[in-house]
Amino acid sequence: MGTETCWQTDAQYPDSALISARNLCRVYRMGDQTVQALAGVNLDIASGEHVAIVGPSGSGKSTLMNLIGGLDRPSAGELTIAGQALSRLPDAAMAQFRNRTIGFVFQSFNLLSRLNAQENVELPMVYAGVDTKARKTRAKDLLNRVGLGQRLDHRPSQLSGGQQQRVAIARALAAEPRLLLADEPTGALDTRTGQEILALFADLNAQGMTVIVVTHDLEVAQATRRIIEMRDGLVQSERRTRIAEGAEAGL
Ligand code: ADP
Ligand code: MG
Repeated sequence: MGTETCWQTDAQYPDSALISARNLCRVYRMGDQTVQALAGVNLDIASGEHVAIVGPSGSGKSTLMNLIGGLDRPSAGELTIAGQALSRLPDAAMAQFRNRTIGFVFQSFNLLSRLNAQENVELPMVYAGVDTKARKTRAKDLLNRVGLGQRLDHRPSQLSGGQQQRVAIARALAAEPRLLLADEPTGALDTRTGQEILALFADLNAQGMTVIVVTHDLEVAQATRRIIEMRDGLVQSERRTRIAEGAEAGL
């Protein structure tokens, strides 16, 4: 596929969309090799959706998440999040946008091993300049919300994998993001623990949080309401899940 296709943009954004991608491209250059990780993705995700992005390894899922999360920049195309065209943001403004708007959850938890659960959740609020008392209260509330109110002073090594992922989710919620992005969040967990984490995402979504989960596990995807399937850097298909259909039928 030629990269020139990446430069045709015809951006039209529905007002309701929290995320709009138009012809989104990301080309990696390695020496004289190029890899077209995203080859022109078009996508709208509304506020309040619970979406799974599925597809084989190498299909561009993580690349798309990194762009949506403002961790990386597109090679071409348009990406608008919460009305903000990301391509026009300078780096400092991009970092601020990311900290305020997006909560990230990763497969490997990414907790700091020397800090206890509460301190890990407090950390983004330390950087955001939240005063000590407020951030301690909020960290405790968030850990209660994810079912870890009894483990505030445990370090990551003293917690199970599922509990560590709950801490990571509480931390992702610290800045009251509009959007939660989770890249293979159950990949390091056993099936039952993974199910508990998915149930937690469904709860958060029911409370209004927009949640996007990347997974190659179809069972994980079925726990959301909408499945977006990627292949070779493109959206190959989309469908609503049984959960979404059941909700529409009033079940
Ligand atoms: P997925 O998450 O679906 O497994 P990725 O988005 O990680 O896929 O990768 C998509 C393609 O881009 C793959 O071919 C991968 O090898 C390539 N790729 C990803 N990150 C980089 C990078 N930093 N440098 C070069 N190529 C990359
Ligand atoms: Mg990936």
